[in-house]
Amino acid sequence: MKWRYHRFMGSRRRALRCIVNLGVFLLLGAAVNVAVAWSLGAWSPYTGSFAREATDVELARVVKHGETVKFKETMVSSGRGIRNTYTPILDAALDAETRRMLASGAFVNFRVATPAVCVIESGFPCLAVKSVHVLHSSTFTTPMMLESQGGILLRNHVAIEGHPIGWMPVLPGFAINTIFYAAGEWALFAAPFVIRKGTRIKRGLCPTCAYPVGASEACSECGHAVKT
Ligand SMILES: [Zn+2]
Repeated sequence: MKWRYHRFMGSRRRALRCIVNLGVFLLLGAAVNVAVAWSLGAWSPYTGSFAREATDVELARVVKHGETVKFKETMVSSGRGIRNTYTPILDAALDAETRRMLASGAFVNFRVATPAVCVIESGFPCLAVKSVHVLHSSTFTTPMMLESQGGILLRNHVAIEGHPIGWMPVLPGFAINTIFYAAGEWALFAAPFVIRKGTRIKRGLCPTCAYPVGASEACSECGHAVKT
């Protein structure tokens, strides 16, 4: 009876330790996940580009319709663990300088000047965090008026590009990355011990101290209960 009680308490302790270990590895996995996502946002050569180059079709419409043109299309650009979803929310009005250049027939590499919503996500292997930025104006001549939610932008000095640090989780990417990095950390730190324990049991040694246990139910060296 007493032996059974100890065995029961032992398995409960083991289960508890398992849950605690799992929690620790998941927390570490989440930390690495966020660190990778923020690093991609901060240092990736690919920056979320807020104002985009007009396409040839859009340029033709601008030339045809004059100073105002509607840009309604959502544009998605992605690369190196970042995705930028750019959605203009109002008609684009070209500034005077761009209009003057267009009228002169010069090649105009203009930017779309319009209120727009940019959702920038980052993370690897899946996109894991995001931030939302409302762009009120952005042209060659006017400074960027930016309103950020759920994140900040670093180095948005040129008024058209920024490095996002977002803290809104993207699901299921955040969960997948967390499990991915937790599994990687487990493989690095815990797997060698699990393998050693299995090898010792196979050789008839105590899994804790490697003392030969033979047929006895507990290790005579350290007292560890041996599964029979
Ligand atoms: Zn032992």
